[in-house]
Amino acid sequence: MIIELQASVPASTTAAILEAAKVRRLTANLVRNERDAQVIGIGGSIPIDQMGLPGIARVEPVHKPFMMASRELRDSSTVMVGNVPVGNGDPVIMAGPCVVEDLDGLVEGARAAQHAGASILRGGAFKPRTSPYSFQGLGELGLQHLAAARDATGMPVVTEVMEPGEVDLVASYADMLQVGSRNMANFPLLKRVGDSDKPVLLKRGFSATVEEFLMSAEYILSHGNPNVILCERGIRGFDTMFRFNLDLNAVPGLKELTHLPVIVDPSHGTGHRSLVPRMAMAGIAAGADGLIVEVHPTPETAMCDAAQTITPGTLADIHRGMVAIHSALAPIFAPEAMPVAVAAD
Ligand code: PEP
Ligand code: MN
Repeated sequence: MIIELQASVPASTTAAILEAAKVRRLTANLVRNERDAQVIGIGGSIPIDQMGLPGIARVEPVHKPFMMASRELRDSSTVMVGNVPVGNGDPVIMAGPCVVEDLDGLVEGARAAQHAGASILRGGAFKPRTSPYSFQGLGELGLQHLAAARDATGMPVVTEVMEPGEVDLVASYADMLQVGSRNMANFPLLKRVGDSDKPVLLKRGFSATVEEFLMSAEYILSHGNPNVILCERGIRGFDTMFRFNLDLNAVPGLKELTHLPVIVDPSHGTGHRSLVPRMAMAGIAAGADGLIVEVHPTPETAMCDAAQTITPGTLADIHRGMVAIHSALAPIFAPEAMPVAVAAD
């Protein structure tokens, strides 16, 4: 049940609603929408019509199962990653190596990515690798290198966390916690990052439907963390030519359903560096709020995902394309430019 309150709502109404949820053992989350109105999402129903409370603006007893993620709650959200806004209409680039290898290489790559137009640094310290014999990441040393690269460049950092027990450690270094594709349905992890005060980059499971993806976001939101960014990173297809198939339908599809920012990962979504620039730009054309791209000063030598990793020079081309495509399309798709429904006579 979604209950929107009037600006003038007495505090007693809010308290009565939260208490009614509590006695029924229902979760209740109080957030503000973009008009600064208070909205309460309750995981079930309370007899609001019979409670006679003043200051209720709107009640939605029937809504999407991903209530807190849905546009029935609010229209749009901007998530701050450090000092970088994501979802405010200006697309951003997150870039860096698949895995943090060493401090000097990370800082060199971070500076080059920043020069090419990136504003957030990515890099894995704890890596989910298909083979247990592959490099698993530097662990806490990798987190320390990321923090040093942030100090050197001023760029906030995003890095993956794989286990509930490591959330505090990763959050003590990172500006945003990444939940990877393989952990999208790791519900204990989702609940734990939902308790964190750091924003979360949630990547779509490569076999997950859009609705399952949104329900995973709902776990984080319903645990009290409103700062979630969704990432479309490709789903499994039948064609072995591609590592994954970047599902660009999902981008405008998600935008119709959720207020959360959506970014696109053309690196994992293709698996081939030659395909990354075009698919990055296609992601922006599809309406993404940004990109996450694997970049390395010498991609051939990257210790993880080398085949899909691009140079900083290619990232600069993507940045130029992104700015051009976004400025060409923004006026066409701006809400005020949408055709207004005309009543039939
Ligand atoms: C990554 O971003 O490095 C990564 C492992 O991505 P995914 O979880 O999408 O495979
Ligand atoms: Mn990777």
